Amino acid sequence: MNAETPVTRDLLRSMPLPQPDGDGDKEERGRVLVVAGSVEVPGGALLAGIGALRAGAGKLQIATAASIAPHLGLALPEALVAGLPETPEGGIAPDSAKRLAARAARCNAVLVGPGMMDEPAVGALTAALLTMLETPSFVLDAAALVGLGADPAPLHRHGGRVVLTPHAGEMAALLGCDREAVDADPLGAARRAATRLRAVVVLKGGCTRIVSPQGEAWAYHDGSVGLATSGSGDTLAGILVGLLARGATPLQAALWSVWLHGEAGNRLTRRHGPLGFLARELLAEIPAAMAELA
Ligand code: AMP
Ligand code: MG
Repeated sequence: MNAETPVTRDLLRSMPLPQPDGDGDKEERGRVLVVAGSVEVPGGALLAGIGALRAGAGKLQIATAASIAPHLGLALPEALVAGLPETPEGGIAPDSAKRLAARAARCNAVLVGPGMMDEPAVGALTAALLTMLETPSFVLDAAALVGLGADPAPLHRHGGRVVLTPHAGEMAALLGCDREAVDADPLGAARRAATRLRAVVVLKGGCTRIVSPQGEAWAYHDGSVGLATSGSGDTLAGILVGLLARGATPLQAALWSVWLHGEAGNRLTRRHGPLGFLARELLAEIPAAMAELA
């Protein structure tokens, strides 16, 4: 199979994002549901939620652990925030799945995972949502990835409408192999996951690989090292789900979000130097980076 195609401005210009017509309201740019955050890491939900809005999505809902919901609502007044029953570890209890699925069915794109603790509970919740839902597109990140490899049947129901965003450690858990094996052949690992799970895979790292369910591969090499900072992946997942809600295809949203996230880091690097900017600061850069390619 061929090597990766580089993700460049020209590539993205050849696959423009859906643009709203001048008279459209916010419904036209899509509804996002972000299922994220935990008592220990509420900020994952905040970063992902802002990412979705900065990517141009029209409406945002966040579903999170009950005890942090009011705090998130105040931190992100643009969002509807639903609090769900918690596990003793401060995550969302999997028996909330039915209630959550009813909310998700009214959305265009759903992200699960950033900042979620209690991996078994997240795995059960993710599998239940994939099994109950038909229509929305999904982004699965972080803890939502860990249990997926063991039983791909819930993913297979969605035939390519799911994007997975692992870093190398999460990819190893997804494939049930060592991290060393992923590092030794990242493209091979991403291809195995994408074809086996029938999803678009974004394998994050200094070079990020994007692989379609058919095994076609792209690579983004132009990010700067300051992107490797706490919360950075949460912002990427939020941008991605926002683009999906606007009507981008899963592959298009994956390619665009990886470039926008990297370009946001490059813009901050030029102004402030290579290290020390915050993941949340990436997000305000997204609209201008996106407009540059329009
Ligand atoms: P996460 O580990 O989920 O927070 O995601 C980290 C983000 O930083 C991903 O988007 C990676 O692609 C990016 N990243 C990690 N290391 C580097 C690096 N050395 N150069 C550029 N980007 C990086
Ligand atoms: Mg992450």
